[in-house]
Amino acid sequence: MTVEKKTILVTGGASYIGSHTCKALAAAGYVPLVYDNLIHGHQSAVQWGNLEQGDIADRARLNAVIERYHPNAVMHFAAFAYIGESVSDPGKYYRNNVAGTLTLLEAMRDHRINRLVFSSSCATYGIPDQLPITEATPQRPINPYGASKLMAERMIADFGAAHEIGWIALRYFNAAGADPDQEIGEAHDPETHLIPLAIRAASGRGPSLTIFGSDYDTPDGTCLRDYVHVSDLAAAHVLALAALDQGLPSQAINLGNGDGYSVLDIVAAVKRVTGLDVPYCLAPRRHGDPPILISDATRARTLLGWASQRTSIESIVETAWAWHQRADR
Ligand code: UDP
Repeated sequence: MTVEKKTILVTGGASYIGSHTCKALAAAGYVPLVYDNLIHGHQSAVQWGNLEQGDIADRARLNAVIERYHPNAVMHFAAFAYIGESVSDPGKYYRNNVAGTLTLLEAMRDHRINRLVFSSSCATYGIPDQLPITEATPQRPINPYGASKLMAERMIADFGAAHEIGWIALRYFNAAGADPDQEIGEAHDPETHLIPLAIRAASGRGPSLTIFGSDYDTPDGTCLRDYVHVSDLAAAHVLALAALDQGLPSQAINLGNGDGYSVLDIVAAVKRVTGLDVPYCLAPRRHGDPPILISDATRARTLLGWASQRTSIESIVETAWAWHQRADR
């Protein structure tokens, strides 16, 4: 007997985390269907399943794709994700991340698609009163990007309750690294993230790293972040979908390793992994950066059975370095 494979509509599937999740979905026996406007996504990252180019705000296009493929569930990554840009151009973020998500939810409601895994963020917490951050930590975002993700979470919860859509909002901490097989990796344009910029500075393929803020109330004065490997994030999406199918109640779930690394720790890790110096200069704080973000991901471990494969910062940076050497050739 052949069992029909489930098709998963992956909005933003040509993105960094979206493409790694498509690889994980295919490995788990699902059929990913990428729906991406390719503004920031890369066609070359779509290697598992078909690509349908389209925007989440385009209801007619969404309808056509849903009616053609009949997806069983949605994984929703499509979003703008530059914090600085969200501060200078909030309308762009509310239009796309909030109104676009509303259009997607209405399409799901009307086509009776009743499973959703949403790409949320620790940016929804803002500056927490207590560490580590659990899912019960109050969400008080300090930039429009974080606010847009929180608003989307709220809409998802309301649609879930009203229209019997089971959902999981995965709140990622700092996604990092690349596919260990180097088929895909991090390729933002412009790149604003610490690890790829530190690697580019080390290899001489980019300018010196600018460290934003060295006067935080942290051990070495630079910000602490909880870096989690992108393939571990991808695996959690597959687990979340399976858990929903097994009746796990809709909820938010943090994804992080629970370790805080400072910006200077990352510089040191990049030096160790590459064997190259990382030239850097100290600069003022970047607007919208919380000093410390560290997760408590107990819920992911206990409810999803999630276990990171790469917890040391070296093992994460190694995959990013391998990808950059390949991608920069
Ligand atoms: N950061 C930095 N220089 C850079 C990019 C980032 O000092 O060129 C710092 C940033 O202030 C934050 C940390 O590195 O404390 C991680 O930043 P990233 O943009 O990678 O992720 P975010 O935490 O903003 O999601």
